[in-house]
Amino acid sequence: MAKKEYKFNPQTLSYDVVSTPSKIRLYRVLRRVLIGFLLASVVNFIFSHLYLTPKMSNIIGHRRELLLKYKILNDKIEASNLKIKSIKHRDNNVYRQLFVVDTLEIPQVYEEYPESKYESFKTIDSEEIVLSSWKKLDAITKLLYLESKSFDQLQELTQNKGLMAMSIPAIWPLDKSKLTNVIGAYGMRMHPIYRRYIHHNGIDLTVPKGTPIYATGDGVVDFTRHSRSRRGYGNEIILEHGFGYKTQYAHLDSILVKEGQKVKRGEIIGKAGRTGGTTGPHLHYEVRYKGKHVDALNYFRRDMTEEEFEKIVKSAKATTYELLEENQNER
Ligand SMILES: [Zn+2]
Repeated sequence: MAKKEYKFNPQTLSYDVVSTPSKIRLYRVLRRVLIGFLLASVVNFIFSHLYLTPKMSNIIGHRRELLLKYKILNDKIEASNLKIKSIKHRDNNVYRQLFVVDTLEIPQVYEEYPESKYESFKTIDSEEIVLSSWKKLDAITKLLYLESKSFDQLQELTQNKGLMAMSIPAIWPLDKSKLTNVIGAYGMRMHPIYRRYIHHNGIDLTVPKGTPIYATGDGVVDFTRHSRSRRGYGNEIILEHGFGYKTQYAHLDSILVKEGQKVKRGEIIGKAGRTGGTTGPHLHYEVRYKGKHVDALNYFRRDMTEEEFEKIVKSAKATTYELLEENQNER
């Protein structure tokens, strides 16, 4: 109810009731409301700076809890990283070694993603830990990808293991009882004519002319050459065994296979002879792995007892049964 106002009337000497216009009344009410609101705002402002509202303290509590959880997550990521690294180590140093395959490399797998990928995380006023967790997770994801690819390869190799075991050159290329002289060893040796050291890429096995020559592993005839030249390798055969292996058989008297023909380990592919540059009948035998010459003797040690192998290694001489050219015709 509106408050009544009175005004003294000097003529009647009494108080008259004065009626206030409704506009002014409304203005007064509004003024009060406004002042009240302003006061309440000032008080609220001061209090909110001095004390936390229950809602704010709730949010801050949550944030603290979230950061703690991030720290735990970060530790777990670190632990997973160590586990993956140990798997990677076993992969490279045990499993891949077993199959004689190189370490798998995938380009950029160890590089971080560009910073722009993490731009959205930088707006969160916190926290280095959020960003570093994401970066670590990305690195782990890439490493996992690499390892899964690597194990895919190994799985394939396991499936081919039987084939691989049959393909790798692993037996004597001829009947060892036919040997008539010591083995001409792989490696540096004195050239009989030039009188200087030249690398011998294979081993020389001296046997009578006509001695059967065996394929030392399953494969395909990659190359044959019939040569009447008194230099170089003479009649020769190169077999492709797959898995990075090739073998070469040179100075043959005759070649019994054709290019592209499949051969089995132990199959007779030619006869020993003295074609090309040689001092007498012998087989020049080479094993190549991924295009590089390796010591062929190591590849048929499974075909010998330890004593036999030791004896042969000791007796193998840096001697020559062939007239090596300075640039032996390679293939
Ligand atoms: Zn040789």
